[in-house]
Amino acid sequence: MPKALYPGSFDPITYGHLDIIERAEKIFDDLMVGIVENPRKETLLSFNERKELVKKSLEGENIQVSSVITFSGLLVNCAKQHNRESIVRGLRANSDFEYEFQMALTNRDLAPEIESVFLMTAGEYSFLSSSIVKEVKELGGDVSSFVPGVVERKLARKFSSAD
Ligand code: ADP
Repeated sequence: MPKALYPGSFDPITYGHLDIIERAEKIFDDLMVGIVENPRKETLLSFNERKELVKKSLEGENIQVSSVITFSGLLVNCAKQHNRESIVRGLRANSDFEYEFQMALTNRDLAPEIESVFLMTAGEYSFLSSSIVKEVKELGGDVSSFVPGVVERKLARKFSSAD
């Protein structure tokens, strides 16, 4: 199977992302996770914090990918640079579809040789997003069923301003 890139903000990584990675890893021989720095999107966690949490979460869940990289700029340029033939994205609801559809068609225009591949969310994670996790944690809720312990502890430090 072609080599694939799974890009995202991962601010922070959740069990929804990990489920997509675990399933994509079985489909593709070589899966790379790419953490994007998007100047238009403000993140709670820095580039390095997000990368560290992705790596630690993958380790903790025993999921092996070929590498975890960070990138900025056009997604298709990153995919080309790393010889990726596919871009993997996860789909939750209608709201994801509109955006992903637009992105996929734009990316196909920019790089017709790269195929976008969509994996449907697992039912149990269909409501789960990084934003919801941050909101719940900031308000003192339990997010242990949404994110690995290492992520939960990092968020706790962030919101207590110890980090
Ligand atoms: P982005 O800013 O690129 O949307 P995200 O980190 O929010 O970055 O998401 C990365 C990818 O993972 C997107 O394709 C998104 O739809 C998908 N995703 C996020 N959460 C889930 C989930 N709970 N189930 C399935 N896919 C998800």
